[in-house]
Amino acid sequence: MSAAPVLCFDLGGTRMRAALLAPDGTRLAAVEAPTPAREGVGAVLDGLCALALRCRDTGVAPQAAGLCAPGPLDAPGGRMLAPPTLLGWRDVPVSALLGERLGLPVLLENDANAAAVGEQLYGAGQGAGSLVFVTVSTGIGGGVIVDGHVLRGRGGLAGEIGHMKIAEHSTDCACGAQGCFEALASGTALGWRAARVMRARKDGTPPPSGRDVIEAARRGERLARRLVAEHGRWLGRGFANLLHLYAPDVLVMGGGLANGFDLLEPAIRAEIARSAMPSYRETPLLSAALGDAAGLVGMAHIVRQSLPDLGRERKLG
Ligand SMILES: [Zn+2]
Repeated sequence: MSAAPVLCFDLGGTRMRAALLAPDGTRLAAVEAPTPAREGVGAVLDGLCALALRCRDTGVAPQAAGLCAPGPLDAPGGRMLAPPTLLGWRDVPVSALLGERLGLPVLLENDANAAAVGEQLYGAGQGAGSLVFVTVSTGIGGGVIVDGHVLRGRGGLAGEIGHMKIAEHSTDCACGAQGCFEALASGTALGWRAARVMRARKDGTPPPSGRDVIEAARRGERLARRLVAEHGRWLGRGFANLLHLYAPDVLVMGGGLANGFDLLEPAIRAEIARSAMPSYRETPLLSAALGDAAGLVGMAHIVRQSLPDLGRERKLG
């Protein structure tokens, strides 16, 4: 492990973030900007380089960089394959392209894996050897750490938990199938469920988002509380599967819907009690602690682990 700071990027479909991180996870600089997601590869790379410049204003020079980004991607090969939220990104050798522009080695990692590592080291999962991190927002993603190692599988494709089947039917999932965890338990699914009820009641107001439903439930609105309880049951069914599969020391829920974790939790726990075998039921279930920073701090750790000579010998591109 080295003492050199690491420059990390978190490239999302809506926002992109960069931070300069010291070895203890301290952020020496942190900046963000909207992602020009519809403007193609060049515009996004320009945006990332602009963020890097702002980080370098601190006067501290990074010696390596990491990029966490939505899958599917080939992490060892440094290539993003076809992220559904970024237009025109098909098999892009992003590590090489960004590395050339920055003059630094750039490691690539799946964003949910990086966030899982971040929560394990500095967040809700501190001290856990095995951890499942589930991000519940527009879709559902996840990172799985088993016995201290990120589970990768063939081509890094393991842990695509949003697309495990938890029912026979649902609205169509982004993957083209039906009955996926994501199609039934994402923030988007909660908004759709509310919209269906409102249509049935011929309520003229525009369809709400998952976040709107959570806020209405927090205000005590009865319909919203019922929808949140129903949603918690779907989350609980998926979580019970994850407990059976991976036997984590802790299951951490992040993403936009984690804002409503306290409201969802009773129904999630009740469903886990119904669906999981006794030995699995008592697994701690926690809300993520690091919010948007989880991916960045996890990514910095992954870079340090992968480049142990960092700081002693500068490696280029
Ligand atoms: Zn799916």
